Amino acid sequence: MELKIIPIAVREYFTSNPKLKTSAVKEKFIPIIYEKQSSVEDAKRFALKKFGIEELQANTLSEYNRVNAVCTRIFNITNGDAKFTRKIDVRKNHGRIRYDGEYGDNEIAVIGTPYFEQTLIHELAHFNHELSSPNFEKMGKRSEIKANMFYPDYTYLERFLADSKNLRLARKFLGSYATPSPDEFVAEMFTAILNGKPLPAELFRMYKDYEGPFAETLFEHYKLANKLL
Ligand SMILES: [Zn+2]
Repeated sequence: MELKIIPIAVREYFTSNPKLKTSAVKEKFIPIIYEKQSSVEDAKRFALKKFGIEELQANTLSEYNRVNAVCTRIFNITNGDAKFTRKIDVRKNHGRIRYDGEYGDNEIAVIGTPYFEQTLIHELAHFNHELSSPNFEKMGKRSEIKANMFYPDYTYLERFLADSKNLRLARKFLGSYATPSPDEFVAEMFTAILNGKPLPAELFRMYKDYEGPFAETLFEHYKLANKLL
């Protein structure tokens, strides 16, 4: 197989533009080396240059670095195929120690809890699921499908909710955040795989069925975590 050498600038153009596929540059994947920055300005520059995050907002230098560390992990584990939102906002934590985040319009906001990395991975999973899944608008909760579609199609949601055996497995291995709808299941699976959590094969099959992003690449990590390699 011939190796194509693609200049860094072209590669970054591809990786920062969600509308373009990265397959043309895939064989020349260059992992990002995470570098802890010593100023907020440098951390913002790192986020823009490496991930195309134009607007990064956080409360402390440590939070800025933690965002860059998480994005580096996601970028490298997906062989550079993952996309990042234009804006990431780590909001002030007013004593709420719980997972909290939202995603929409190419922006992610998370509350700066001690575990905000997990929330950020979850929200970035939604973003990449939306970019890569042809049926994403059918994967949400009932009210979301109704809001997103002229002729609402509930077949994916109904199939998901009727699959009580696998839903039990999902609740056991991923928790209740994974069970209201296929898109929440996919986001929690992506997070668990990234964390190297051992998971039953049925759940990975479901991840593929619901068009979870980068299933092929992540399958290698799934196998490693389950000691199948
Ligand atoms: Zn979610």
